[in-house]
Amino acid sequence: MVDRRPLIAGNWKMNFDHLRSIAFVQKLAWTLKDAKHSAASVEVAVFPPFTDIRSVQTVIESDRLEFAFGAQDLSPFDSGAHTGDISGEFLAKLGCRFVIVGHSERRQNHHEDDSVVSAKTLAALKHGLIPIVCVGETNEDLEKFGSSAVPVSQLRAVLDVLPKDSEIVVAYEPVWAIGSGQAATPLQAQEVCAALRAAIAETHGADLAAATRVLYGGSVKSTNVASFLREPDVDGALVGGASIDVDEFAKIVQFPKHVIA
Ligand code: PEP
Repeated sequence: MVDRRPLIAGNWKMNFDHLRSIAFVQKLAWTLKDAKHSAASVEVAVFPPFTDIRSVQTVIESDRLEFAFGAQDLSPFDSGAHTGDISGEFLAKLGCRFVIVGHSERRQNHHEDDSVVSAKTLAALKHGLIPIVCVGETNEDLEKFGSSAVPVSQLRAVLDVLPKDSEIVVAYEPVWAIGSGQAATPLQAQEVCAALRAAIAETHGADLAAATRVLYGGSVKSTNVASFLREPDVDGALVGGASIDVDEFAKIVQFPKHVIA
């Protein structure tokens, strides 16, 4: 059986300027050091706004902190006349390990459809970045099709173009759970994460399915994170609101120490 290192990823969204991002990363490092957090047992990644990435990179590299970092989006193109967009090549040069693609806020607010998300996934891989591919159903989808159908079809659109043996992370984020305070139940998350893993197995084989980390996201907090991570197909969490509160995020990262009632 493949050992999947849990990943706790903090999506800061459009919060913190570069000065606050430095203070946040330093405080997170001290807090986790005091708590004797082991980076070998849980991988931690932060996703600042583009304008903070260079500052975050500098702190992480100069202080040799055991965090990864990434961007919240990238362009499907490498360069050229794409005003306001950021190339995967630039992100890779800044040392980003990951990039989020297809977050529901991009799908909704920027009309990104499955073909754009697929193109962005390929652009990330081309530049050596690990895409965190977000999928998830709206409330309406949930009522019409149940919980798995839409996330699985969104993932299939990516799998259709995904080269064999690509390293990706999948994040199941029900849209109704994002920022609402109403998380999915661990069982719901498990069912959909298992269906997503099965879709990977179907198109790319059992080995890639077993190696791919599938995260849950949507109103994750320190009080519920461990109940998700206890599920066999949930390999981590993509955290939004709670990721910009440093004490709360540090508690989430330490989920293996939580006692579940
Ligand atoms: C997100 O934006 O990816 C997210 C999961 O947000 P929240 O944790 O605030 O629900």
